[in-house]
Amino acid sequence: MRRSRDRGGYGAAGWRAVRELRQSTVIEHRFTEARRRYGELAYLNFPRRGERQVMPADELFCRHGHERRLHTHYGPDGRPQCRLCNALARARSAARRKART
Ligand SMILES: [Zn+2]
Repeated sequence: MRRSRDRGGYGAAGWRAVRELRQSTVIEHRFTEARRRYGELAYLNFPRRGERQVMPADELFCRHGHERRLHTHYGPDGRPQCRLCNALARARSAARRKART
């Protein structure tokens, strides 16, 4: 029996279901692997459930909910950066470096 034909009776919806199942297991695997390697600091940049489009940036809070008024600084290029987010990114980077060696 040819494997590629062995979806008898499901039609196109069946194929879609198979593909979605495969994708979700891949995503779950990557999720757990990232947690295993980088622990608490793992950066899981998968879209949230129902998230389909880019949201305009909030004026008062950064995307991780830190208050811009308190935590924003402007670098030499004039672009705003959140100090707390930057600290988290540096901690993640250090954790990656530690995991590599
Ligand atoms: Zn922030």
